Amino acid sequence: MKALQYRTVGAPPEVVTVPDPEPGPGQVLLKVTAAGVCHSDIAVMSWSADQLPFPLPLTLGHEGVGTVAALGAGAEGVAVGDAVAVYGPWGCGSCAKCAEGKENYCLRAAELGIRPPGLGAPGAIAEYMIVDSPRHLVPLAGLDPVQAVPLTDAGLTPYHAVKRSLPKLVPGSTAVVIGTGGLGHVAIQLLRAMTAARVVALDVTEDKLALARAVGAHETVLSDAGAAPAVRELTGGRGAEVVLDFVGAQPTVTAAGAMVAVEGDVTVVGLGGGTLPVGFGALPYEVSVASPYWGTRAELIEVLDLARAGAVDVHTETYGLDDAPQAYERLHEGRVNGRAVILPNG
Ligand SMILES: [Zn+2]
Ligand SMILES: [Zn+2]
Repeated sequence: MKALQYRTVGAPPEVVTVPDPEPGPGQVLLKVTAAGVCHSDIAVMSWSADQLPFPLPLTLGHEGVGTVAALGAGAEGVAVGDAVAVYGPWGCGSCAKCAEGKENYCLRAAELGIRPPGLGAPGAIAEYMIVDSPRHLVPLAGLDPVQAVPLTDAGLTPYHAVKRSLPKLVPGSTAVVIGTGGLGHVAIQLLRAMTAARVVALDVTEDKLALARAVGAHETVLSDAGAAPAVRELTGGRGAEVVLDFVGAQPTVTAAGAMVAVEGDVTVVGLGGGTLPVGFGALPYEVSVASPYWGTRAELIEVLDLARAGAVDVHTETYGLDDAPQAYERLHEGRVNGRAVILPNG
């Protein structure tokens, strides 16, 4: 079968032919309908050989939906032909965190060498993929595959981030979304669907801010040195109760700290590597800073339910598998509005 692989450190990904995968005991073989292209892959492909936590070659794609093509011995709970979405942050399934459905925080994944598809295990940008357990599949139940596939990361990750701050997002509060790309433009819609907060979106181009307004941002601000003062001004000096940073680079993380309100939350989601000092006087009183990772199995079910209710409309552009390298190129150049989706069997 054909697959998009990252093969050499620092080189662009290539479409190659690899052996057809066979499901082992307990595993599920999916015929991939759609796979998402995520900016975190570009971060991974910028790492040096020493920083890479898994060997190459790697089939990319940590967002996948497909139809069940075959079941390994003993795999139960899904049937051949079922349309399903893949829960990506695989864990052991039995530690205390996994028992809560928080496989994204599995206590044993590192020790057992369990890695997510596309981030260590063979990913979704291929004609077929192996899912290690039916536990990691959620029925699409009528959702359009192209619309649904970004929800497995670009929906689930911001959903988890918003959920942590729900008690602070009361009427009259302000939520700032920094970076309105794949995750950020979904975050704006989730904030609108889940809260009464005023949503302020920050990005570096007017194009991206136009998309942010189209998907529900009340206000938009160019993300530059004037952004934090602008947010303070929009909030009467108070600052934003919640700042979600989907870039996570040093300038945006610093700006997040400068625009957050007393008792607010700063949540750094982006893999930009920026850090925010915490200590008396470094931030407004009682600000909480967190860097979450992905989301829980239950939250993926909730996100898909929200999409089924019509609350989330992901902007997508689609590519065939042969054009997948161009999708990464365009994303790297900042030219994708919303999410690029690969149709490996399209
Ligand atoms: Zn991602
Ligand atoms: Zn676990």
